[in-house]
Order: sequence, then structure tokens, then C-alpha cells
Amino acid sequence: MDLTRLPPHTLGNPHRKLLPQAVFLDRDGTINVERADYVKSIGELVFLAGALAAISNLSRFEIPIVLITNQSAIGRGIVTPEQIDSIHAHLRACVRAAGGRIDAIYTCPHRPDEGCACRKPKPGLLLDAAADLHLDLRQCVFIGDSIADLNAARAAGCQPIMVGTGRQAQALARLAEIEHSLVLVADLSAAVEWMHRRLAAGLHVCDAAPVLETGAVSQRG
Ligand SMILES: [Zn+2]
Repeated sequence: MDLTRLPPHTLGNPHRKLLPQAVFLDRDGTINVERADYVKSIGELVFLAGALAAISNLSRFEIPIVLITNQSAIGRGIVTPEQIDSIHAHLRACVRAAGGRIDAIYTCPHRPDEGCACRKPKPGLLLDAAADLHLDLRQCVFIGDSIADLNAARAAGCQPIMVGTGRQAQALARLAEIEHSLVLVADLSAAVEWMHRRLAAGLHVCDAAPVLETGAVSQRG
């Protein structure tokens, strides 16, 4: 990863003091359709409606956009790291063609039983990204579709924005009924619109919800 190509997060935007330092994006269920049998090829990478336009819109904030993804299919021997790399190269090319960018990608290749520190809901990938990109995670946003994403965001101190385009949409909706501070929106486009609304109201994007104890949320799914 060429860090010198990352856009500065302090330049060129009138809302810069209210912007997060970076936006983390989950992949499956947030950007593309999640498959129970894993995305194993470029042909199986199907973008969710509006996702590419949403990333293009997000890119206009001029802050780093970082993909954070569990890909246990590698550890399970279903895909090779090289296949995941080629899928991600294709993903980035599609994003670029739509006018957006993905600045960095952090992947956990492990199976759940390996007990690694990077598989979400652990915050390891976020901690790695923060170290590499010199980010204050409390000043970052994580957009994802799963309880694991929510808990990883909270464990790292990021502002979670949850989208209802994944397999845990119903679980998140139930959680939002109990936790009124949970930010749950329809999809990635709505997540970016939510950020725009915060900025338009003069509110910092990351101050929407108090950070809860991570143990307060059960890990379903
Ligand atoms: Zn891992």
C-alpha cells in the first residue's frame, strides 16, 4: 500500500473539523451482495444497488476510505490469498470507474477457530489501519452490516453506522429498538447521506452516539 497516495484529511473541505479522519467500510453485505458460499471470483462480486455511487459520494470528503473485511474463505482453503487480491483489484477498479476510491484494504484470512486478533468483532484490523495511517479511531467512522462490525467498531472506539443490506438486518433492527442511539440506515447511500446531514447541521460525524461497553451487545449470527 502506498501511503503517500492517501488524500490528506485536513485539506480542501469546509467541514473538515467535523469530518472523521477516515471511513472504514465492511465489504460483504455493505458494498456487495453477501454469499453464503463466499465470493470466490470476480464474477461472484455483485455490487449492491447504489453502492458504487455511494463510495463516489463518500470519496468527495477527501478522507481515507479503508476496507475492513473478514475473509475466512482463505483460512478454510476455499480461495487463495491471490484470488482475494484479484477480487479486490477488480473491486477497486469498479470503484475507480464510478468516480470513487478505496485507499487501503485490510483482510483477516483466518477461520473463527484460529482465535486471531484480527477477525471482526475483534478490532485488530482497525488497530492495524490506525497505526499505519496515524488515525485516532475515536475520530473515525465504521460502516458495516453485521453485529461483528458493530462490535469491532465499538471495541476500537469508532462511530458505527449500520446498514440494513446484509443478512443481519433484522437483528440490527431489533437492537435499534432497544438502543435508540444505534445509527441504523437502509444502505450505504443512506449512510453517506447521514454523514452529510450531520455536517449540514454543524455536528461532528463521530459524536452521534456514546460508545457503549462492548460486552453490552450480544454477538448474534
Ligand atoms: Zn484474523
